[in-house]
Amino acid sequence: MRTGSLILAALCLLSPQAMGDTEKDFTAARMALVDEIRAQGQYDPPPGRHGFAEPVLAALGEVRRHEFVPRSQLREAYDNHPLPIGHGQTISQPYIVALMTDLVDPEPDDVVLEVGTGSGYQAAVLAKLVGHVYSVEIIEPLADQAAARLDGLGYDNVTTKLGDGYYGWEAHGPFDAIVVTAAASHVPPPLIAQLKPGGRMVIPVGGRFAVQYLLLVEKSGSGEIVTRQITAVRFVPLTGEH
Ligand code: SAM
Repeated sequence: MRTGSLILAALCLLSPQAMGDTEKDFTAARMALVDEIRAQGQYDPPPGRHGFAEPVLAALGEVRRHEFVPRSQLREAYDNHPLPIGHGQTISQPYIVALMTDLVDPEPDDVVLEVGTGSGYQAAVLAKLVGHVYSVEIIEPLADQAAARLDGLGYDNVTTKLGDGYYGWEAHGPFDAIVVTAAASHVPPPLIAQLKPGGRMVIPVGGRFAVQYLLLVEKSGSGEIVTRQITAVRFVPLTGEH
């Protein structure tokens, strides 16, 4: 019997009741996670705001994180920490996903670039909030898995590709927002060029063994760049030949 058939056979051994209970457990865990993130609040929110935007929290409440983690990590799918996804990479901590999403202030018509598709989770959260997400991943098996997963889950406003996200995705730019989910040594000039006037980029900057800071990079209507340091973070490095 092939592995897929074995897994299917094992799942069939679960009664409909047990499978329903598991589904309820995931939903309850997801809601508890959203409450925890809401209570944790946001670092230095924009003027007039006292925490994460409710639509951002609602998106986290809708995206089934357990669909984005390896089977071996299912029990921890709704814990508020990063998890391994293979190839030395991670799915980011949910709090950090909320923070990065909130910082780019997503609007329903926005076109957003993500650098570092990984599992596809951050792209899925963004997809609930904006018009279209373009996402680039440099590791081929992760790019293939995320594309199949997002497609299978019906995220038809996400387009992915294999490539070096340092260079962005010029054909679909300029972007209203850019979310970089791997730490760069500097803000890549091609990403600044692909940000619309009035656009926002969040990017962790710093070395693998040095302190990294999450930066919010804003481009004014006249093209001026203003950078704000948000908080210390720890991300896997942005790789590639650039
Ligand atoms: N956003 C992901 C998610 O929701 O699962 C988590 C991303 S993980 C922290 C960082 C990802 O960036 C990894 O999958 C890594 O392979 C990818 N990456 C690293 N350097 C890259 C580059 N130059 N271009 C595109 N992706 C890159």
